[in-house]
Amino acid sequence: AVVYLFDFIPMFWLLSDTRLFIISVTGLGMTVVARELHRRGHMGAGVSLMLSMMTAHMLASIGTYGSGLGFELYFALILLVTYISALRQIAKLGVSLAVMGLTTYQLMGTPEVTLVDRLGGWAPQVLLIANLATVGVLFAVILRRLEGVSQRLEISYRRQAHHDALTGVFNRRAVLHEIELALDNARPFALLMIDIDHFKTINDRYGHKLGDRALCHLVECLRVSLRDEDTLGRYGGEEFIAVLHGKSHGEALCAAERLASAVRETSYALESGALNMTLSIGVAVDGEAQDIDNLIALADRRLYQAKRDGRDRVCGTDTPAMQGEIPVVLDRAAEQMRAVFERAS
Ligand code: GH3
Ligand code: MG
Ligand code: MG
Repeated sequence: AVVYLFDFIPMFWLLSDTRLFIISVTGLGMTVVARELHRRGHMGAGVSLMLSMMTAHMLASIGTYGSGLGFELYFALILLVTYISALRQIAKLGVSLAVMGLTTYQLMGTPEVTLVDRLGGWAPQVLLIANLATVGVLFAVILRRLEGVSQRLEISYRRQAHHDALTGVFNRRAVLHEIELALDNARPFALLMIDIDHFKTINDRYGHKLGDRALCHLVECLRVSLRDEDTLGRYGGEEFIAVLHGKSHGEALCAAERLASAVRETSYALESGALNMTLSIGVAVDGEAQDIDNLIALADRRLYQAKRDGRDRVCGTDTPAMQGEIPVVLDRAAEQMRAVFERAS
């Protein structure tokens, strides 16, 4: 539309070319309609209108001014618009062949530079420069926009790869990666394994959709209570992991108590009343285990101890009853032996 308004319409008005002036004004109107169609989701109709208009304009200009003045350059622009459009592959091929055929036919049927005599020596050069500049600028604008689209897509795909679609916190893979990074780092950290109490009952009573919204509400509560530098991730259905950087065992227990009471005291407002959730939390610190599997297993064991002790509580130490429990994670060597055995059999 900008090109029509500030380039074609004044250019053909200055050249006193009534036919191409009218085509340009029509082109401006059709561009606006094509844009609106595109915006409303009628991509095919929008792009077809745009391509027909561009082709008609180019053919009429070549027919009037002949070759050599840059009007044929718009063929490349039409091809670019065709191939980045939402048309089907076969339609793109058909459009490009048709436009190529029509352009060739038009170029062969018109004499080279028909305007030199009528308009004086400067007009062809001005037209050629104006057309070169217009096509160049349009190419640059379209390619810059494509670059912007691909950058936005990349950011969105990266986000999707690392974040949970429902709650927006890190997904399991990303939070495990964060723990691996924290283990490689000399700075101490604590791991909180967080599980909602009786969440199945909430789903059963209010439905899965409301259950989803309750999960988002919980994440909001946790986020408010955590520091910016802490990491929150969804480990499984209604289980979350928080990584608290730089926290000692005692500090992590306090932080876990704070999280639990924040959630307990922040009801989720429903039309029919309020929903209250409680959490059970298992706490472990990096010094207590030699690798990620054992650290998670330790926090998990303490989480289930908190469940056994009556839920809505934090557990950060092994009780005498837990000492004798079979570790959830198998010894690494035993795991490798099993893998070798399975492969052999
Ligand atoms: P406990 O106190 O022992 O943890 O009991 P619980 O009911 O929370 O635990 P259980 O493991 O029996 O049930 C977990 C429930 O979480 C079952 C499952 O339907 C629900 N859940 C898991 N993921 C989602 C989800 O994305 N959305 C919803 N709405 N529910 C989920
Ligand atoms: Mg639960
Ligand atoms: Mg659970």
